[in-house]
Amino acid sequence: MSREFEQKVTERMLRYAAVDTQSSRISEETPTTAKQYDLARMLRQELIAIGISDVYLDEEHCVVYGKIPPSAQALAGKEHALGFITHMDTAPDASGTDVKARVIKNYPGGDIVLNEEQQIVMEEALYPRLALYKGQDLIVTDGTTLLGADDKAGIASVMTAAEYLLAHPEIPHGLVSIAFTPDEEVGGLAKDLDLARFEAPVAYTIDGDYLGYYSDETFNASDALLSVRGTSVHTGTAKGIMVNAAQIAAEYIAMFPADETPQTTEGREGFFHLVAVEGDCENAHVWMIVRDHDAELFAKREDFIRDCAARLKETYGDERIDLEIRETYRNMKEVIDTVPHTVTLLEEAFRTVGIPDPVRLAFRGGTDGSALSHRGLPTVNISAGYENAHGRFEYVPVQSMAKNTQVLLALVAAYAKRN
Ligand SMILES: [Zn+2]
Repeated sequence: MSREFEQKVTERMLRYAAVDTQSSRISEETPTTAKQYDLARMLRQELIAIGISDVYLDEEHCVVYGKIPPSAQALAGKEHALGFITHMDTAPDASGTDVKARVIKNYPGGDIVLNEEQQIVMEEALYPRLALYKGQDLIVTDGTTLLGADDKAGIASVMTAAEYLLAHPEIPHGLVSIAFTPDEEVGGLAKDLDLARFEAPVAYTIDGDYLGYYSDETFNASDALLSVRGTSVHTGTAKGIMVNAAQIAAEYIAMFPADETPQTTEGREGFFHLVAVEGDCENAHVWMIVRDHDAELFAKREDFIRDCAARLKETYGDERIDLEIRETYRNMKEVIDTVPHTVTLLEEAFRTVGIPDPVRLAFRGGTDGSALSHRGLPTVNISAGYENAHGRFEYVPVQSMAKNTQVLLALVAAYAKRN
């Protein structure tokens, strides 16, 4: 089975990688780039070809759906149903145009020359995790683009698992729902996924790096925009009149604790992050983001920002300071905890395929599942197996994708046995 899967996921990964699906942070279109439809249409055709039911491409929002109906009437209950969700776009951080993926069979270890002509080398010293994959087959780029295994490796595993299930009608399973979504990399949060159409009551995104971990917990996240209105006058006659907005912005920034930043925290420690600041004497804007796993601490962090703004208002006047705090996403944990089988069955699935100690990771970010969980679809994230995502040194071990295919099948089996 694993040989067959290795061949299938390789063929799929290479085919998907060749389609440019880079999303955009600037665009206000849905999806942010029309080229994501190129892969959406390809996947729709492929779902039809392998025999999936109810294949549907939402032409307005670029979401692809498909279902594998329960294998028997006895398994038609909601308790046996689950869904898989993966994203089609690739990160704007590195080019996704003209990706030339290739397979290094039986990686011998050491540095990898990605591009002879341009002398682009992936050095083992810089990427020590390479050593873990000695003897495996690696899919790499030519060093000029990203690979897009984030998240096309996820798509390859889901598609291969679906194909296997359909080719083996004797395997008992409940409803398996599938969706491919756009714009994950630019904060799309799967907002256009139609939960009624998706039907399954719980889901898994397959989107994370190295094989063998999952996240049932993400950050709580908000952004905070402070706007300052100053009064600009000639510096020669400014005394008592000028109010320097840029200087007030600097004062605000200095109020934040220096040891609670992304660069000084890890694990379950939250932070404030200064994303951008712009300003002059007349106007200034400070964009912060705030993150914390713990809901109470998160609320305290938001209060801290409000306090900072209040202090500035006291000093400079209400009319000069504006603070806008917007929620980005919330920790999925409080939702996942109401359906603990999403985690226990996943752990069981990992063990079934020979991953005895899957890592449970409090993810220092958000996933589409953070938003989906709070919309009513509890969605745990399973890693997809890629490495060095969002850059030219991205790669994915074929064996990780094949193993993940087995994880998904074991998960479907675990749901089928549920009573
Ligand atoms: Zn991703």
